[in-house]
Amino acid sequence: MNTQKTIFTPRWLAPVMPDNIVLEGYSVVVDGGLIVQVGPTKQALIDHPEAQIENLPNHLLTPGLINAHSHAAMSLLRGAGDDLALQEWLEKRIWPIEGKLVSQEFVFDGTVLAAHEMLLGGITTFNDMYFFPDAAARAAKQMGMRANLGIVVFDFPSAYGSGPADYLDKGLKLRDTSKNEDDPLNKLLSFCLAPHAPYTVSDASFKQIGIFAAELGLGIHTHLHETVFEIDQSLSQHGKRPIERLHDLGLLGPDFVAIHGVHLNDADIELLRQTGGSVVHCPHSNLKLASGIAPVAKLLKSGVNLAIGTDGSASNNRLDLLSEAHTACLLAKGGSLQADVFKAPEVLRSMTIAGAIALGLADRIGSIEAGKEADFAAFDLSDIDLQPVHNAISHLIYAAHRSNVTDVWISGRHVVKKRQLIQSAAVATVTEVVARSGLWHNKTSEMLVSNP
Ligand SMILES: [Zn+2]
Repeated sequence: MNTQKTIFTPRWLAPVMPDNIVLEGYSVVVDGGLIVQVGPTKQALIDHPEAQIENLPNHLLTPGLINAHSHAAMSLLRGAGDDLALQEWLEKRIWPIEGKLVSQEFVFDGTVLAAHEMLLGGITTFNDMYFFPDAAARAAKQMGMRANLGIVVFDFPSAYGSGPADYLDKGLKLRDTSKNEDDPLNKLLSFCLAPHAPYTVSDASFKQIGIFAAELGLGIHTHLHETVFEIDQSLSQHGKRPIERLHDLGLLGPDFVAIHGVHLNDADIELLRQTGGSVVHCPHSNLKLASGIAPVAKLLKSGVNLAIGTDGSASNNRLDLLSEAHTACLLAKGGSLQADVFKAPEVLRSMTIAGAIALGLADRIGSIEAGKEADFAAFDLSDIDLQPVHNAISHLIYAAHRSNVTDVWISGRHVVKKRQLIQSAAVATVTEVVARSGLWHNKTSEMLVSNP
């Protein structure tokens, strides 16, 4: 990690916390990968005369964006299953292909491509749920990116494991290895338990997951209330809505994360509020799979922590958090007929500290405050189509694009410079994976021909 003390002097600074405002004439001092001071530039220059200067004269500096839900390796399946609703998409297209293709190599290569896309879009952390999380961990470290890895659990076997006990065993071993191994890049990794969904995980498995979560202090992330089908199936099989079932199994709490939360009624939202859980809103995936539109205005009003995720490339088909947030913001307003819902600073919050809260990492990332890790995204707002800049956060949410990201730092390490990866390990890895991507195309094409 970079140990050189540096003063970042952006034109605009959006620290998100403690105040979600735009600061001008302010700097951030970083030492050994940690933020040590946020304050007026004049004072920073006096206090740290020996520091190097990272001058960002046209830029808005924000915390690194947090993609709170992804299946990164599915970058290799982008475009392999469009225009289908969730169950048909999963059962007829995605699961058959994954059943034959998914492997260590598949997950590593797909995650590298996803990390490249996410880094160039200002995302510094992704929260992943997929088979072979050990391969995703290797890819994240190779790319210098922060990853919260889901210990995925299904009740059916796959190329990755034989069933719930095997998935848990493999995932928890990976967590232990990453904690005990002497590799400085392991500090980029964290873990959660990731039962896939109420319709793929049994009561017995959920109970076991609840026990591990309590024993090990791990969060529980699951796809929840994504479709009407899921709720109807739960009502007929269990006599209760999925969230009620998980509550009765003891899983809800401050470390519980409901991914999607599209079909939440007032009682469901109240249950989430009372138990302190989070929702990860993935509007593009919900729209593309025709799942519906999440009640974001009601969730925000109730005070439920709301983060934003892209979901996987096979259902989005971009890993562009800024674009996701733009859609989320407009849907919340249009859907509720309230223009003052989900204002630009709240949207920035949902892409940063709210994601960190959902991942249990709010003490380390999600805002630009002394003591936190130096994960930053710098947006160049000097484009002609962004002039004049009345309010930098407004421009970020309503007008800018991910192409405005020029520089990204993770733990103080410069990973994207002038819109390109600059760490040699990451550059070499991406080059190798791109060269192999044609092989994945050929294999996927064979599957599509045999399973049109
Ligand atoms: Zn998902």
